[in-house]
Amino acid sequence: MPSYLITGASRGLGLAFTTELLNDPANLVIATARSTSGSKGLQDLAAKYPKERLILVDLDVTDLGIVQQVAKQLDTLVPEGLDNFISNAGVAHGAVATFDDLDLDAFEDELHFNLVVLVNLLRAFLPSIKKSKQKKILIISSSLGSIELGGYMPNLANTYSIAKAALNMLVRKWGAVLKRDGVTSILLHPGWVSSTEIGDSISDWIAENAPDIPSITSDVSAAGSMKVLKEATLEDAVSFFNFDGTKLPW
Ligand code: NDP
Repeated sequence: MPSYLITGASRGLGLAFTTELLNDPANLVIATARSTSGSKGLQDLAAKYPKERLILVDLDVTDLGIVQQVAKQLDTLVPEGLDNFISNAGVAHGAVATFDDLDLDAFEDELHFNLVVLVNLLRAFLPSIKKSKQKKILIISSSLGSIELGGYMPNLANTYSIAKAALNMLVRKWGAVLKRDGVTSILLHPGWVSSTEIGDSISDWIAENAPDIPSITSDVSAAGSMKVLKEATLEDAVSFFNFDGTKLPW
């Protein structure tokens, strides 16, 4: 039974990815969130699926102690290793800040979340991932983190895109090392999903400046994104995918 662990599954895309993965009866999903009991979406899924298919675990990804505790729990939850790790949890404080007014504390938090927090998560979960059959890591990034695509936003510092660009470099470099151990690491842009909090944070700007970017539903994003993960092979490490399976420029 292929196993999946998702961060930030309480709402938005993380919840949609969890729902999509559960549609396949072969999958075991460990859905994590800061408060799984506080997520109506996760509670509804837990009422529908047995523990053999869906396990809810509280995980604040910024708390190293909790990250390490959850990593320990994996020995019992998935003794044969964690097949797929999906880093989805995200923050977007400075999506439409300008260089003149950007809040440096918020900027620092975005960088910390995308870099230091991810390093801690990967360090903690890699022993389990490496002993699994599938050995896959999916990092949710954004097309805004592509230097070529995200550099086009005039006047805006868009610190969110700067943090995602740094995340891309981290995963590109570390993923190349992990590839030697048979681990497939990929980055993915889930499409612009305006119904989530992060998607909505930029919707006014997109309406004004880039009205051609299509908004997709979280279901369409989840179906495409989980297909990309399922079909990814070691040869794809380290690629930057769009949710529809096409590749994005760095
Ligand atoms: P949401 O704001 O709806 O979801 C963000 C998720 O991250 C929530 O589940 C939130 O949990 C979780 N989270 C935040 N901080 C923590 C933490 N410390 N520990 C654990 N979980 C945490 O946004 P999206 O669903 O849109 O975002 C999901 C990912 O997709 C992000 O990485 C985002 O950058 C990326 N993305 C989204 C796009 C879009 O158009 N929507 C486009 C490109 C990329 P809680 O409920 O506890 O706050």
